[in-house]
Amino acid sequence: MTETGKTTTTERAIDADVAIVGGGLAGLVAANRLTELGLTAIVLEAGDEARYPANSRYAGGVFHIAFHDLDEAPSQLCEAIAQASAGLRDASLADAIARDGARVARWLGRHGAQFGRGGDYPFMGNMLMPFSLRETGFKNHWRDKGGDRLLQTLESAFVAAGGRFMRGARAIELIMTDGLCTGVRAQTPDGDRIAIRANAVILADGGFQGNAQMVREHISPRPELLCKRGAGTGMGDGIRMAREVGAALVGMDRFYGHVQHKAALRDEALWPYPVLDIVASCAIVVDANGRRFADEGLGGVAIANAIAALDDPLSSFVVLDEEIWDTAGRTFLLPPNPALEALGAVVYRADSIEALATMLGMNAQALAGSIDTYNRALKSDTLSSMVPPRTVRPAMLAGGALAISGPRYLAIPLCAGLTYTMGGIVIDADARALDAQDRPVPGLYAAGATTGGIEGGANSGYVGGLIKAAVFGLRAAEAARRDFASR
Ligand SMILES: Cc1cc2nc3c(=O)[nH]c(=O)nc-3n(C[C@H](O)[C@H](O)[C@H](O)COP(=O)(O)OP(=O)(O)OC[C@H]3O[C@@H](n4cnc5c(N)ncnc54)[C@H](O)[C@@H]3O)c2cc1C
Repeated sequence: MTETGKTTTTERAIDADVAIVGGGLAGLVAANRLTELGLTAIVLEAGDEARYPANSRYAGGVFHIAFHDLDEAPSQLCEAIAQASAGLRDASLADAIARDGARVARWLGRHGAQFGRGGDYPFMGNMLMPFSLRETGFKNHWRDKGGDRLLQTLESAFVAAGGRFMRGARAIELIMTDGLCTGVRAQTPDGDRIAIRANAVILADGGFQGNAQMVREHISPRPELLCKRGAGTGMGDGIRMAREVGAALVGMDRFYGHVQHKAALRDEALWPYPVLDIVASCAIVVDANGRRFADEGLGGVAIANAIAALDDPLSSFVVLDEEIWDTAGRTFLLPPNPALEALGAVVYRADSIEALATMLGMNAQALAGSIDTYNRALKSDTLSSMVPPRTVRPAMLAGGALAISGPRYLAIPLCAGLTYTMGGIVIDADARALDAQDRPVPGLYAAGATTGGIEGGANSGYVGGLIKAAVFGLRAAEAARRDFASR
């Protein structure tokens, strides 16, 4: 038997059927499902605080599938996922989410999750309670809200069922024996090493948004100029470890996030909410030269990706007029109008485009040209022929493209809020990690934001971080159980 991976004399070994890397929603769903199926499991969680930071803890809590209700027919949901995600790698992943979305919500309900209707929008039928979308500022919005409570509930249930939850244990290396994943090594903050010897490992460490080097390589030339719109604890460890043992990666160039006010980069009171997605997708977004650079009609996630890809991700503005600010700006659960100005964030106003351009240090002719071209295209129904084109979609959350016609013109400086990366480990519909030939890496599974293949692509398609984490967490545990039985 040959084992790869370093051994050290101070290493302590622990045995379990399955080792899980990450104590977010994906990891804790997998952990509870494993104990329910009669297997022993250990969760390694890098954070050492009682309420360790994780995106699942900070989530708004809407369980949706590409902004559709979980109970819609699977065929409709598959279609919605395919439409959202121009980067869909494998239709069976969409099918898994469409079929199991409602099942996992019911399963979570049996394990202590409390769901309620979060608002009038049809996709808000399953939102974790108490709701967390209604308060501005990082400090206020998550403590004792739905995501925070759910993680505590799932951890307690897992431990009560005999599972072991290890805080302050950061997984660093997979253990491979004759091509089979037989465990994982972890390190504590004191430098102690632990080897979990297991029959399978489930990677659920939440993406690579916290790893500046990887973000620079795949997403933005200036990661330090993106707003950390989340826990920032996804350090890309799972992706690195999986790649080291032959797993393939997909869709690494897109992230889920929102259009934030530029000041959110430094001021925690301005993120995760309010966001400027709806305003930006009803008006135009321009760079420092006054030129459009994004397809605003694709929505806030796509605009945030385009902002992040700029040479200077702090150089863009949304340009609108007072009427758009008073309509689109007052839409959705936590509207930026009036919240942003109430929190001290600047909104530039002027009586002419020239005066606005002067305020922004921008070429007035270029800005006036961008507004004029847009207004004309809107009037002649030729938005999709613009450069860059502007997609026109039935507007779900707002009024779609609106004319910018004054008399008062506004500009708001923007930055991209990075919540989680959409790309990662290639998996099959049962969350098995796959190599470049689509063969499973035996014993290795992955779930949640560390996986790719269902979100992203040219349109930065967003399907739903919570549903992706929960469905594939559940499926990883069930597949691991089945795969053991057949070994
Ligand atoms: C403000 C906000 C609002 C959101 N709102 C919604 C919403 O309404 N609907 C929706 O669908 N999605 C939403 N999301 C996204 C959603 O929360 C995430 O996509 C989802 O929770 C990811 O779950 P996960 O388990 O994959 O990752 P996480 O919850 O991030 O958990 C990963 C865990 O792994 C740990 N970890 C990392 N590296 C290691 C390592 N090497 N070893 C051990 N542990 C490690 C981390 O510390 C972390 O605890 C929101 C996110 C944020 C931040």
